[in-house]
Formats: sequence, structure tokens, C-alpha cells
Amino acid sequence: MKTIGMIGGMSWESSLEYYRLMNEEVRARLGGSHSVDCLLYSFDFQEVEDLQHQGDWDQLTQEMVKQGMNLKRGGAEFLVICTNTMHKMAPDLERETGLRVLHIADATGRAIKKQGLSKVLLLGTKFTMEGEFYRGVLKEKHGIDIVIPNDEDRDFIHRVIYQELVRGKIEDESRAEYVRIIEASKKAGAAGVVLGCTEIPLLIHQKDVSIPVFDTTAIHSIAAVDLALEV
Ligand code: GLU
Repeated sequence: MKTIGMIGGMSWESSLEYYRLMNEEVRARLGGSHSVDCLLYSFDFQEVEDLQHQGDWDQLTQEMVKQGMNLKRGGAEFLVICTNTMHKMAPDLERETGLRVLHIADATGRAIKKQGLSKVLLLGTKFTMEGEFYRGVLKEKHGIDIVIPNDEDRDFIHRVIYQELVRGKIEDESRAEYVRIIEASKKAGAAGVVLGCTEIPLLIHQKDVSIPVFDTTAIHSIAAVDLALEV
């Protein structure tokens, strides 16, 4: 089994899910007392959040590369960034560390195609919903068309992520609004919804909505185990 280098703490609420899901998957596949072979670097998320909102992506890239190199020195054989948003610097991280970065949007694109869908709603931070770094992978690599919520709804989705979900708050009223936004996207042709923020699966579950959900935390965790166990 390869050693997985996890760059997490963004937030720790979702890193816990990655750790649990990867361990459960390894146990299911190998049986006995097998568990995942990994290293985790966990950021202080307030520092990351502040730099994101100041638009200081250069500083964030430097921090990510520094921690990626530390994981490499510790024995990591490939990297998993435990958040969608921070894939903004995935190409830099891969180039600077020389380690493969298992891309969350690539794994998600494969899962969407496997279900035969070609147009989906993307929910995540405003950086993820509005930027090209994520949508580009889904569109250019997998031919998937993306629908995003309107301005006001994007603000709401973003606010819930940073003021509630990364702080461990799961609120019924926020879930109801997310469900409203997801159901409304069907009119724009969305046949599924990408939960493109690794904390959204803590709020929205398949049973809450009428279209297929793509849980990026679970998809990415399973893809990491696939790669770790690949011979
Ligand atoms: N975990 C979230 C994501 O998947 C948001 C936290 C972050 O900005 O990294 O995008």
C-alpha cells in the first residue's frame, strides 16, 4: 500500500471524514486489521480562510508547497488535498513537489460520467463555483456542463460554508435553503448536484434531494484508496 500524504485541516471537520472513509475502505477491501497508511498535515484554518478572502493565493501556494514537501520528506508517495477550493493551486503543488496530486474534480468527473450524466449543479465556495480551476477540469477533461446558482444564492452557499460548516454548525434552516437551490437547478437542466465543498456532505444527504448527489469527500477518499492499493 502506498503512503498517502493528506493536506487537510480545511476544515478539520471534513479531514475527519476523509480519515474515517479511507480507513473503512481499506478495511472493507483488505479485511483483518488493515488500515490506511497515511500522513496528515492539518492547517490552522483561520489563517487559510483569511488569506483566501484577502486574495493572497501566492502566499497560500507557498504554504501548500511547503507542507507538501514536508509530507514528501516524511514518506508520502502522492498527495491528497482534502478540500475542493485549495485545488486552485493543485498544478503548482504537483510541479513544485514532484508528487502526483490526486485531483478531486477529476475523480468527481469520472463518477459523474459513470452515472451517465452530462450536466450538473456545482455547489461550493464562491472560489470553486466561480473560478475556472474546478469547472475547467469537469468541462475540458470530462465534457460535463456546469450550472451554478445565481449571485444571491452563491453568496448564501459561501456564507454557510465559512460561518457554519467549517465551524461544526449543522443548521436545519441552511439545509432547507440548500435543498431549495438544488431543486430549482432542475429547471436549468441539472441532472445531478456536485457537493463541491468537503463539508457540504455533512449538511446534505442523498435522501434530502430528488437528483443524484456527488459527495466529493467520499469520491476523493475512495479514489485515494484506489491509488494507494494500485499495484
Ligand atoms: N472544505 C471546503 C472545500 O472543499 C472549503 C474550505 C476551503 O476553503 O478550503 O472547498
